[in-house]
Amino acid sequence: MARARRPFFCGNWKLHGSIAESLALATEVRNGVAALREVDVAVGPSFTALAAVAKRLEDGPVAVAAQDCFWEGKGAFTGEVSPAQIADAGCKYVIVGHSERRQLFGELDAAVNLKARAALGAGLLPIICVGETLAERDAGETIGRVQAQLDAALADLSDADLERIVIAYEPVWAIGTGRNATPAQAQEVHRFIRTRVGARAPGLAPRLRILYGGSVKPDNIQALMAEEDVDGGLVGGASLSAESFVRIVKEGSAA
Ligand code: PEP
Repeated sequence: MARARRPFFCGNWKLHGSIAESLALATEVRNGVAALREVDVAVGPSFTALAAVAKRLEDGPVAVAAQDCFWEGKGAFTGEVSPAQIADAGCKYVIVGHSERRQLFGELDAAVNLKARAALGAGLLPIICVGETLAERDAGETIGRVQAQLDAALADLSDADLERIVIAYEPVWAIGTGRNATPAQAQEVHRFIRTRVGARAPGLAPRLRILYGGSVKPDNIQALMAEEDVDGGLVGGASLSAESFVRIVKEGSAA
């Protein structure tokens, strides 16, 4: 059966890789997915490697994502990078609200909204991350937490903005832990997200791409992608090897 939405897989390389290493990995990924037609693919290098990787991947099938952005366009904000600078480096996407930003750097829901809006304003497509902690899941608060994150992140986005977002459901307890959500757990939250966004923009719901992230590997992607509302993956650790990321893209998009 044909998929309802074109699958999308994005690698998040986090704080890894020199420029040379990032170029080598990007080139291997590009070569590995070159023959695939029915899937969108992106890689997310560190800021220092963005421009070089984007140049290497120019006009090819693999897009580039930044891992974060600031919301202001310019000014006295030492250390920050604006969405326009990220677009200028050749990126198509930017990840916002990753749980590592939220947990390690105190990023609040309101900041995620500012970042998503600024990214859209600069012509970038934001990949907006939401997900509960283990304590929240154990307390039965998964849906409530995801709803709060989603509503805050999407506040004041126009219908045209909503058309350009990607959502990533990333249960915090599954990121980098080797412990992925079961397909049924992922499906439950993905369905909720689609319904919630659909309440804002009904026509969009069937087209909205919702990625799963959290210990995605070649051996679990097929089962996850078999779920109706799972449209791809945001892949951390397993995207640092071209061989495993390309397998995830191939097996996930064929599932
Ligand atoms: C991530 O970085 O968004 C992620 C899901 O990491 P991992 O695949 O390593 O769990």
